[in-house]
Amino acid sequence: MNYDVIIIGAGYAGAVMARQYAEDNKKVLILEKKSHIGGNAYDYMDENHIRIHEYGPHLFHTNEKEVVDYLSRFTEWYPYEHRVKGLINDKFVPIPFNLTSIEELFDKETADNLKNELIKEYGMEKKVPILELRKSNNPEVRNLAEFIFEKVFKYYTMKQWDYSIEQLSATVTDRVPVFVSYDDRYFQDTYQMMPKEGFTAMFEKMLNHPNIEIRLNTEALDVMKFDFETGKIYFEGKEFTNDVIYTGLADYLCGYRHGKLEYRSLWFDLKVMDGTYQTAVTCNYPTPKEIHPFTRITEYKLMMENKENPKTAIHVEYPFRYDEDAEKGNIPYYTVFTEENKALYETYKKELEVFKNLTLLGRLAEFRYYNMDAITKAALDKYKSLTK
Ligand code: UDP
Repeated sequence: MNYDVIIIGAGYAGAVMARQYAEDNKKVLILEKKSHIGGNAYDYMDENHIRIHEYGPHLFHTNEKEVVDYLSRFTEWYPYEHRVKGLINDKFVPIPFNLTSIEELFDKETADNLKNELIKEYGMEKKVPILELRKSNNPEVRNLAEFIFEKVFKYYTMKQWDYSIEQLSATVTDRVPVFVSYDDRYFQDTYQMMPKEGFTAMFEKMLNHPNIEIRLNTEALDVMKFDFETGKIYFEGKEFTNDVIYTGLADYLCGYRHGKLEYRSLWFDLKVMDGTYQTAVTCNYPTPKEIHPFTRITEYKLMMENKENPKTAIHVEYPFRYDEDAEKGNIPYYTVFTEENKALYETYKKELEVFKNLTLLGRLAEFRYYNMDAITKAALDKYKSLTK
């Protein structure tokens, strides 16, 4: 079989690219080391008819109509708006921290005053990153910012990343800004919904094409060779000169020659029980590690179209340093955005430029924090630019 493209990884980046090539009548081979498609968005229905996201909760939201139109070819949707509560001073209050959170945590007089000061300074419906709020000239707002910093961000971030906020790129905490609003949704995007039959079914449809062949349980470097001396790529012993799309770890591809890039991992403790566990789909625990060693708990049936179920299933989420040999934490989830890691990534990226037919795409390969919609869009754009 002569392939027009080899794609390594069957997550969003790989699957969207595969579909695009296939529809252009190109023969596609996908190599996937996991035993399933969909990457970390993989989900399945358990024996109690609860859809579990094996690698943790994935919530679809976007402002990109192009992405919605594209994915809608492979799935129907049901409306779903994600809401999160965080444990602060023994109460579960809305996260992102908003005007309701203030009302629930302070007495009426203090709350009214804090809300007024915030509204006066920023205006209603304004999102203010915590690091910006801490720089306010208004001492009352600054005090509130310190409270939020301490109670929402400081310990959660330490648990999640094992770095302090100061050591990480501001883009990490900017994802969850303080919201001068009563809107308690986690996202404000125009389109918020979930695939009716789950993400895995959506990927199955996307990849179900006569021009796409998928090899699961296949480690790319077992069948391919990247020769850094000559810039040539080999597949099953023969030189492969067509496009190669790589969505895995950049340092792995280079044999870790300059040391390991840091990725963050998660481990999920799945618990099945009777009844209902909590009052929001996701409850965050921004408390010190010594009090709660996990960051959040997600209750899956509450995000389903049909929430009625006498049973329930929760994921208790534990962050780990990524280590492929560890028992827990052996799947890369996030790139760790320190200056050191960013510099090391650039070194690897430069070395990989020797391969003229190689494209790096996705969270892991590009060392970026892509959401599902953003990587779908990036893959669509990348395909256009490659085939121009
Ligand atoms: N964060 C936090 N406390 C929270 C929620 C988020 O400190 O209650 C910070 C934390 O550093 C986290 C980042 O904001 O890694 C981004 O959160 P988000 O929920 O977007 O993370 P994801 O769902 O991508 O893991």
